[in-house]
Amino acid sequence: SAQQYQAPAQLLNDRIILVTGAGDGIGRSAALAYASHGATVILLGKTVEKLEAVYDEIEQAGYPQAAIYPMDLKGAVMSDYEDMQQALAQNFGRLDGLLHNASVLGDRKPIAQSNVDIWQEVMQVNVNAEFMLTKAMLPLLESSASASIIFTSSGVGRQGRAYWGPYAVSKFATEGLMQVLADELANTSNIRVNAINPGATNTNMRRSAYPAEQPTNNPQPAALMPCYLYLMGDDSQAVNGLSIDAQ
Ligand code: NDP
Repeated sequence: SAQQYQAPAQLLNDRIILVTGAGDGIGRSAALAYASHGATVILLGKTVEKLEAVYDEIEQAGYPQAAIYPMDLKGAVMSDYEDMQQALAQNFGRLDGLLHNASVLGDRKPIAQSNVDIWQEVMQVNVNAEFMLTKAMLPLLESSASASIIFTSSGVGRQGRAYWGPYAVSKFATEGLMQVLADELANTSNIRVNAINPGATNTNMRRSAYPAEQPTNNPQPAALMPCYLYLMGDDSQAVNGLSIDAQ
């Protein structure tokens, strides 16, 4: 199963993989896991120092040299994504993997009390940004022999829950985008599209969502990597349109 997957050491040799939110939490762990299996990882995120720390970790481990692409998904507009496509086309010529991982939690309140600005920010970062990034990157993914797009869902992206407002709705939308894209690409191309629900994981986001919880009761991001590697590598080549639990 995806949760028990044992990735061959060379699984991602010579692959070019873009990871959003690569500076922290699950995205950082995925970037390190992909690099350790041979990929050249493009680290996209908001806080440059965090991206630099991951870059250094990759370098010190002797993995293929990474690249840093600082970007605040909250303010980015379509032309920013097009500029990025140009830069990646020039430097790499193609893209073999895209992990949409960056997200914000927003505030958790009843819909009746929801803050409209926060609602829009959550939709911008968690949904609109991944739509625009996907749209911009598709030509580069089409240049790959075998490309994988992975979206990040959540339990509240499959069953609504009180007070999870914009975050839950953004994850339903993410599942929807994944399904639409997977269906469009199903018979026509070399690109597969799936989603991962990480499950409760010990990160900043989880700690801020559940302040009363003992953080170490949840697995570390590294424990999810079998699933992240499975969907990114060619052993999942025939898998398309699924939303998989990492735990
Ligand atoms: P973290 O908050 O630890 O990390 C989120 C990452 O996204 C950070 O690197 C952050 O960058 C980046 N990010 C946030 N906003 C922006 C922005 N505007 N522009 C660019 N980058 C941004 O979260 P997790 O690692 O826990 O979450 C990763 C994914 O997993 C998310 O999609 C989340 O919804 C999902 N998930 C997590 C669960 C959990 O229990 N942890 C459970 C279910 C789903 P920076 O640090 O610079 O702000």
